[in-house]
Amino acid sequence: MLAWTVATTLSIPVTLANLGTFALLTALAVTQTEVSRRIERQRRILSNGPHINMTSVWLLPAGLLVPPQLVAVLGTVLYVYLAFRSWSGTRPGEAHRVAANATTMILSGFAAGLVADYFSGHGMVAVALAATAFFTANTALTGLGLYLAAPEKATVEGCLGNMDDNLLELATLCVGGLLVMVLTTEPLLSVLVILPLYVLQRSVLIKRLEELATTDQKTQLLNATTWQDGAQREISRAQRENGSFGALMIDLDHFKRINDTYGHLAGDDVLKAVAAVVKQETRAHDLVGRFGGEEFVALLPATSKEDAIVTAERVRQRISELIISTKTNEGAAVDIQRQTASIGVAAYPLDGASIEEVMASADAAVYAAKHGGRNRVVGSAAVALAAA
Ligand code: GH3
Ligand code: MG
Ligand code: MG
Repeated sequence: MLAWTVATTLSIPVTLANLGTFALLTALAVTQTEVSRRIERQRRILSNGPHINMTSVWLLPAGLLVPPQLVAVLGTVLYVYLAFRSWSGTRPGEAHRVAANATTMILSGFAAGLVADYFSGHGMVAVALAATAFFTANTALTGLGLYLAAPEKATVEGCLGNMDDNLLELATLCVGGLLVMVLTTEPLLSVLVILPLYVLQRSVLIKRLEELATTDQKTQLLNATTWQDGAQREISRAQRENGSFGALMIDLDHFKRINDTYGHLAGDDVLKAVAAVVKQETRAHDLVGRFGGEEFVALLPATSKEDAIVTAERVRQRISELIISTKTNEGAAVDIQRQTASIGVAAYPLDGASIEEVMASADAAVYAAKHGGRNRVVGSAAVALAAA
């Protein structure tokens, strides 16, 4: 980046018009950063993965409208400003990341500029292709950086961002593309982007707060309250439609020993692995939650008790086969295996007329499974009674 900046500084002249556009972009960028300072700060504190900021809205137009050396200056000013005004103290010890992100953004701006130059004279098509180049360069460089930072932990979603992250980045680039047009025709109208950007940023924060309020942060499953709400809706629907559903209550066996032997962090890794198994073995519309501690619940809409037992058996089997690579409190690597679970299965309307009744039946079945020797699935007593 430095080399390109120096090379262009020497070879590409900066015109007065460039300086005007640069000054306007910088003023807009600083104003917008200041206006949404608190939202940005909260978003960064609450974000769990890589943090998507909105700087591309300025760096894409810069890449297309001013020479690279000014793109580099704008990127640097913006990131220094963000680091000191919005993010200070939110992620200590991440100064090198901020520098890497700034570099990535500036390079993406360069890429956009090169593509726009190549297709110059093609109007909006050039802008669209430049935005695509920006997005591609940004995704590739960020992904590569995240991968290289911790190759052993890298996941596709971790490196490339989830759907929402990418949508936010695309939305930001769309505004950036419009800004290019405004800046080349009616520059002063560009102040109109500040409010929409503010609202966009705020809606992303609200979505994140919603996620935090509804999901269990350790396992990413539904938390108990949200699960209850969903279950309540499901029972209302089943009542209206004369339908049925199955419910699984899953309790890990002798889980306390894992904590006692390997420590709490290893225990947490086991909980995450079990949560992933339950999620994988159920359907997308099944309600899977963590009830607290080492207890999980799953509600399977429109499912008979027999089918729920089949699912429960699959979950039990998968849990018993898990090998969880983790670390003890002392930092020694360890593979935890032979973790098992006891699963109680109940169904609506067979085992109860309310969620509480159905879950109490499932709970009693877990209790029976524990007494029966653990690592087993037990259907609640109604079936046994019916069979008898
Ligand atoms: P049983 O087979 O009878 O179910 O035995 P158990 O040891 O699994 O059951 P018990 O209820 O005695 O212990 C549950 C343990 O789960 C105790 C607690 O330390 C642990 N636990 C609860 N929540 C968490 C958590 O979030 N992380 C970790 N690591 N452990 C947790
Ligand atoms: Mg328990
Ligand atoms: Mg237990």
